[in-house]
Amino acid sequence: MSEILTLALSKGRIYKDTLPLLAHAGIVPLEDPEKSRKLIIETTRPDVRLIIVRASDVPTYVQHGGADIGVAGKDVLMEHGGEGLYEPVDLEIAKCRLMTAGPVNAEPVQGRLRVATKFVNSTRRYYAEQGQQVDIIKLYGSMELAPLVGMADRIVDVVDTGNTLKANGLVPMELIAHISSRLVVSKASMKMKHDKVKEFITIIEQAVAKQ
Ligand code: AMP
Repeated sequence: MSEILTLALSKGRIYKDTLPLLAHAGIVPLEDPEKSRKLIIETTRPDVRLIIVRASDVPTYVQHGGADIGVAGKDVLMEHGGEGLYEPVDLEIAKCRLMTAGPVNAEPVQGRLRVATKFVNSTRRYYAEQGQQVDIIKLYGSMELAPLVGMADRIVDVVDTGNTLKANGLVPMELIAHISSRLVVSKASMKMKHDKVKEFITIIEQAVAKQ
């Protein structure tokens, strides 16, 4: 029986931008996950299937053997820590920046800065590198709201055009990291399915060079 490769993807921007890269490898999904409720999607290659998971769960599925390969934003990988994963290819898609942001004309903050974010680990690391002690408030979304209701002085979020910040009276402040999506490969799959995984990586590298 031929080995099956399982690829973990998230819906939305990453899925849309990954499709043309997969097409280079002759991989076309048989169903559209944006329309289907199925979480396992077969492809035109009988030896390749997709699983559709939350963006922040992609590294976890690959780390724990639920998928051989995944596509995850660097923001998600920085948060996860990358244990059990190789990160062989920068796909140069879904680019944005991880930034601190705060209110326009923010007054200097007395005492510890209160920072609201879903990127708790990256935020802690960033401010520690700056030698600044902060209180981190963990949120799961809509971070822009926190300064507006007086709950936080700053947020840490990914920023693309900056329109979302602007619409909420916030401005980007410090750059923490440039973000793009990466191919991640399970260290176990790299060993157990070496030839197949290597071939896939090479084709995707070629597709990225062409895009
Ligand atoms: P913006 O274009 O800055 O208004 O971005 C709108 C929202 O989309 C931001 O608040 C982010 O949460 C999200 N976003 C933008 N770019 C990305 C990306 N590459 N990956 C994940 N989320 C993103």
